[in-house]
Amino acid sequence: MAEKILIIEDEEETLEYLRLGLELEKYNVITATTGNEGLSLTKRELPNLIILDLGLPDVDGIDVCKEIKQATNTRTIPVIILTARTTTTDKVVGLEAGADDYLSKPFEIKELVARMKALFRRLEFYAPQPDEILHKGGIVLDVGKHKVTIEFKADLDLSPKEFQLLYLLMKNSEKVLERSYLLKSLWGYTESVESRTVDVHIQRLRRKLSDQVLKFTEHLNKRIVTMEGFGYKFVD
Ligand code: CA
Repeated sequence: MAEKILIIEDEEETLEYLRLGLELEKYNVITATTGNEGLSLTKRELPNLIILDLGLPDVDGIDVCKEIKQATNTRTIPVIILTARTTTTDKVVGLEAGADDYLSKPFEIKELVARMKALFRRLEFYAPQPDEILHKGGIVLDVGKHKVTIEFKADLDLSPKEFQLLYLLMKNSEKVLERSYLLKSLWGYTESVESRTVDVHIQRLRRKLSDQVLKFTEHLNKRIVTMEGFGYKFVD
């Protein structure tokens, strides 16, 4: 079955370019030209992927993204941000808002489709149950509430990617997860070139865990073990 793609874009020309390009690729395309229309279509249609322009007439695309990524039933829908803003800050803000990828305008359909396929590939790996709760090594991860709690006392404030990373590590505890597997699962990349991305996220996750160490459990950050040359492992 063809994946349903929602395009939220106010510029007619870009919208038509996207629609035609994606329909040629046999995707089922639906469109919105404002942020609010995009949000209500997201809730009603539950698309498989959203292409979101940042410069919209009513609401900022960043806020649209945040809302999609905060609602329980829409947060797993991948979002690709389209931006004419080229500064690194905008990209970082977009990714922090939970966007899964971004593309700077002007772009080619081919590039977009490659990114979309990478995200769909990722979903084959990362597919938690909506009501899943993992409880291991003093850490409770609640998929439905998108919440991580340490020993039922303190909440951990994680970005969507850090949350997904911790989920995969906890889900596969005591198993070594290779960097390439984590990359494919969470970013959809297949290139080993980018493997530093995983390391950076692991470091951040460890830092957040170690901030809790003094308050509660000792060595909480040591739950994530580096397997030199391979990847990472969560120890119970
Ligand atoms: Ca625009």
